[in-house]
Amino acid sequence: MKGSIGVTTENIFPVIKKFLYSDHEIFLRELVANAVDASQKMKALANVGEFKGELGDLKVSISLDEKKKIVTISDNGIGMTAAEIDKYINQIAFSSAGEFMEKYKDNIESIIGHFGLGFYSAFIVSKKVEIVSLSWKEGSKGVKWSCDGSPEFQMDEVEKKERGTDIILYLDSESEEFASKAKIEELLNKYCKFMPVPVVFGKKQEWKDGKMVDTEEDKVINNIEPLWAKNPKDLKDEDYLGFYRNLYPMQEEPLFWIHLNIDYPFNLTGVLYFPKIKERMDIMKNKIQLFCNQMYVTDHVENIVPDFLTLLYGVIDSPDIPLNVSRSYLQEDASVKKISTYITKKVADKLEEISKENRENFEAKWDNIKLFIEYGMLSDEKFYDRSAKFALFKDVDGKYFTFEEYRKAVEEKQTNKEKKVVYLYATDVQSQYAYIEQAKAKGYSVLLFDCELDAHFVNLLESKLKDTQFARVDSDTVDNLIVKEEKSAPVVDQSLTDDMNNAFSAVLPEGANYFVKLENMGADGKPVVITQSEFMRRYREMSKLGGGMNFYGQMPDSYTIVLNNESPLIQRIINENKEKNGAAFQEFDARLNTLNGELDQINEVNKDKKPADISKEDTERKNKLNEDIQGVKSERKAVMEKFAKENDLLKQLADIALLSNNMLKGKALNDFVNRSLELLK
Ligand code: ADP
Repeated sequence: MKGSIGVTTENIFPVIKKFLYSDHEIFLRELVANAVDASQKMKALANVGEFKGELGDLKVSISLDEKKKIVTISDNGIGMTAAEIDKYINQIAFSSAGEFMEKYKDNIESIIGHFGLGFYSAFIVSKKVEIVSLSWKEGSKGVKWSCDGSPEFQMDEVEKKERGTDIILYLDSESEEFASKAKIEELLNKYCKFMPVPVVFGKKQEWKDGKMVDTEEDKVINNIEPLWAKNPKDLKDEDYLGFYRNLYPMQEEPLFWIHLNIDYPFNLTGVLYFPKIKERMDIMKNKIQLFCNQMYVTDHVENIVPDFLTLLYGVIDSPDIPLNVSRSYLQEDASVKKISTYITKKVADKLEEISKENRENFEAKWDNIKLFIEYGMLSDEKFYDRSAKFALFKDVDGKYFTFEEYRKAVEEKQTNKEKKVVYLYATDVQSQYAYIEQAKAKGYSVLLFDCELDAHFVNLLESKLKDTQFARVDSDTVDNLIVKEEKSAPVVDQSLTDDMNNAFSAVLPEGANYFVKLENMGADGKPVVITQSEFMRRYREMSKLGGGMNFYGQMPDSYTIVLNNESPLIQRIINENKEKNGAAFQEFDARLNTLNGELDQINEVNKDKKPADISKEDTERKNKLNEDIQGVKSERKAVMEKFAKENDLLKQLADIALLSNNMLKGKALNDFVNRSLELLK
């Protein structure tokens, strides 16, 4: 019998080939899924007693003729009668596939896993498709249907002894890559690994007489009852670890896992694992596989779970995630939102439970999950609120605190005059060693924030934790980190500060801004300390992390060079300068006095006049005086620069300060070493 299939468009086969060009391989999943379906229906018929005969071992077998390029998918499910083929294949399958194509032709690529194309997908890879089927119904006759991709089909009665269906694909010339055992096995492993009916591909092999030979035993590709479908009560740690190893053979053991299991208000099962993540380099997204009733859909779960959860590994299985919609639609979908909220909550609950159950164990794993949790706290407000109960701070000595514990521990000693508790932190124990030691010597605690997201995290914490301020240990001299009462600034002569600024700036490396100031830090204190303002540093870091070069990112680094006014070494420099340049400075001062005096006079005369009313003569005179004042200052600056460049002690002190901040590099470092050796002679 010949006939025309129920499609409205003339020959739509080429259309689908073109649309799905990148994902031809899904044909195998779709056909195996149909075969699995037919098998499960058979089981159901037997269960309700409608079918009383021999059920046999229900299974789906895939066979391949590599030479003839034929792939066959066989099942012993319910089969189809001629009338059913006519109805389900000729009419419904083709028209629903036609509708599918019509509906999605503009965004077929965005549909998750190209799900639900069904039988029609056979034509993605075939020049001809045959169905040979025998229905379970008593008295049925075998039927063979065949179609070469044109809207005409051929259907005849054939001899078929066993119940079930064979779908026979004659691969077209563009799809010959599928005529390979390795390829078929790869696809079965990708798409059918957990389907609920055994999927068989060839025989198990064994080593015999020096080569691998087939045994009698079927090679079953899949695990029909995957871990996530089982009851968590029946599972041991080893089962979860084994499943993980199976999914990710090359990965280190996971830290924790969460078994998801919910049937109201939506259906979802799954197991999520926490991998060890220490640095951004270790982060691998898209390690979660999405299933729909044990059928693999995709490993791109973005838009289905919140972004920070895509760092987890494992599987999610849910028939309630809409699959035939575009990805952008998913974000807006109410059931997807519910699912993602649920998963987020479960993850937080589980972490809280683990932290309470065994704090020691949680602390041991903290460093490896910290990045994940910070990412979650930064990107999801609800997750922050939940995590704030169990998230940990770690101090530079490796001691852990919850947020609450930490507050209690430092409140007393680290509250400043504005009643804010100052949390001190370091980002690198090695390079900030000296600052950390000084803070500790004052009885302060120093936290360690050495993770990539910490710059953002510190900002977040500052906005979340009440009356709290964060300061990196090197953001100021130790006495100024936590200011407890107003102190009067030491009265330092402005011209001395200017002189020292000019002197030190002349010997400090180029490429950054320096502000020199003098402070009293005790006779035993370090002579020179370099600090970097918390505010500026943080903004620069943030803009670097953000990737873009904005205002702060483009500014050069700026540092404060604090000279210890009480240090004998600094006093020595000041005195040497007095001795050497005292006479010159007296002359500068005298000249400045005269110039300033004249300027004051002109200003006094004109003080009530608008600028426009000041005489031309006076304006010119004023400009000239200002120029001369600048000239004297430049001369004085030049004297200081010369002094600095010739003063080994000054250079040595500047370099030592740079060196202790890891800022002495290249030629400057080499000069320092040579100068030090010279001084030892
Ligand atoms: P869907 O599976 O979504 O219904 P398909 O186009 O894949 O759509 O299949 C159409 C129909 O053809 C199925 O509903 C089923 O009744 C029938 N069918 C397909 N494959 C088989 C099979 N291997 N055994 C029995 N019936 C099948």
